[in-house]
Amino acid sequence: MFEYAPAPESRSVVEIASSYGLFIDGSFDGGKDGNVFKTVNPATEEVLAEVTSAGPEDVDRAVAAARRASGPWSALPGSERAKYLFRIARIIQERSRELAVLESLDNGKPIKESRDVDLPLVAAHFFYYAGWADKLAYAGFGPDPRPLGVAAQVIPWNFPLLMLAWKVAPALATGNTVVLKPAETTPLSALFFADVCRQAELPAGVVNIVTGAGDTGAYLVAHPDVDKVAFTGSTDVGREIARTVAGTGKRLTLELGGKAANIVFDDAPIDQAVEGIVNGIFFNQGHVCCAGSRLLVQESVADELLSSLKRRMSTLRVGDPLDKNTDIGAINSAAQLSRIKELSEIGESEGAERWSPACSLPDRGFWFAPTIFTGVTQAHRIAREEIFGPVLSVLTFRTPDEAVAKANNTPYGLSAGIWTEKGSRILAVADQLRAGVVWANTFNKFDPASPFGGYKESGYGREGGRHGLEAYLA
Ligand code: NAP
Ligand code: MG
Repeated sequence: MFEYAPAPESRSVVEIASSYGLFIDGSFDGGKDGNVFKTVNPATEEVLAEVTSAGPEDVDRAVAAARRASGPWSALPGSERAKYLFRIARIIQERSRELAVLESLDNGKPIKESRDVDLPLVAAHFFYYAGWADKLAYAGFGPDPRPLGVAAQVIPWNFPLLMLAWKVAPALATGNTVVLKPAETTPLSALFFADVCRQAELPAGVVNIVTGAGDTGAYLVAHPDVDKVAFTGSTDVGREIARTVAGTGKRLTLELGGKAANIVFDDAPIDQAVEGIVNGIFFNQGHVCCAGSRLLVQESVADELLSSLKRRMSTLRVGDPLDKNTDIGAINSAAQLSRIKELSEIGESEGAERWSPACSLPDRGFWFAPTIFTGVTQAHRIAREEIFGPVLSVLTFRTPDEAVAKANNTPYGLSAGIWTEKGSRILAVADQLRAGVVWANTFNKFDPASPFGGYKESGYGREGGRHGLEAYLA
């Protein structure tokens, strides 16, 4: 194993203000009731900034601004809206180093991921939907598809800026205006994005950012003057939002949790499969709704695969998110860390065997070593519930039918992976998997042209691609 010298990215490339207001109607202002909260760097617990907590009156103002902007924005020719989106995409590219550092500081994810995955995908989403803005008549939704109006968008903390891009880009391309609430623990890149909108001279009120906790989100999605609700987050909150929206005539898309099966057949190239398993569960500390959190491995290759996997896990570098050699950064919050710890302890008490490589964790901040559980059965809670951390549950199977049955034995249905040399097996198995996305001999591959979304408790509606336009059209 190599020893690496520290290779820190400079945190001085991005300026963080000591406090932030709400972005409403094109400018920042303080909240009406003066409530604030702090966002911390989860790798150090250092306070990064004080952020405004939007109360009901603030959300009312944001929705009103979005409503006022909606008429003129939707009346613009698509080619004019496209110009703004292209401009936003280019500014994101130009400022991507600042944004990557900011995202890693506020979220805890390794800089190599924010720099090489999140930011390029964020720009790609804006470029992609900019391209659709003047071609909506050819998207398959009629000759003159109309926007819905005002979209309320609530996003989680795992990919703060990327989830913003998934929501804002298609909404704007189709002529909607938005009020977006980022997660309480990761508001900074959304506030930076507000500044990008100003720089792009986006008309006031087209994008509004209201920071706050769950109450702010609940008030926003229940607002009577909102036409569309888009949510990404936990299944519990998704259910609550579905109840709030039921019967109101508002359109709703939900992107919720997952418990994806990553299936390795005996003819799979083992080294590549190991890379795919590592990417599937340790990418972004496992804070990924489509993470390959259940490894299903064919019994005849299980020993060989597990020893390769353990060897590979021993080379993973856990630590400072801003170090360019870091593979696994900090867990996003104390609350998430305690949930991961709790489910891992339940895994042990239910009889699964726990293993982590030797690795020293920093003293301050929120950390969890990469972990696998073997001897897991389908009845174990760690095989059924989303852990949302760097924890892999390993199950075995003997036949393809058994693999499919186990893979589908979950309340979720977001994603799955298949590792095999046989193309015919990929097609046959993919066809039987009840999952929105099925990757073959790869995992966690994202592309703005490709639709993403779930079945069952993973939610409904698709984001990305041509399909992603539909959720924002009348
Ligand atoms: P969450 O509570 O569902 O949060 C997602 C977003 O919804 C955040 O912006 C949150 O605000 C907001 N929110 C919370 N309660 C709300 C309500 N009643 N009405 C409207 N919006 C509300 O998720 P979490 O608590 O951060 O994470 C819990 C679990 O959810 C994780 O362990 C994981 O299993 C799952 N999760 C899934 C995804 C995904 O991509 N599918 C992402 C994150 C988490 P606050 O941030 O202020 O609470
Ligand atoms: Mg934070």
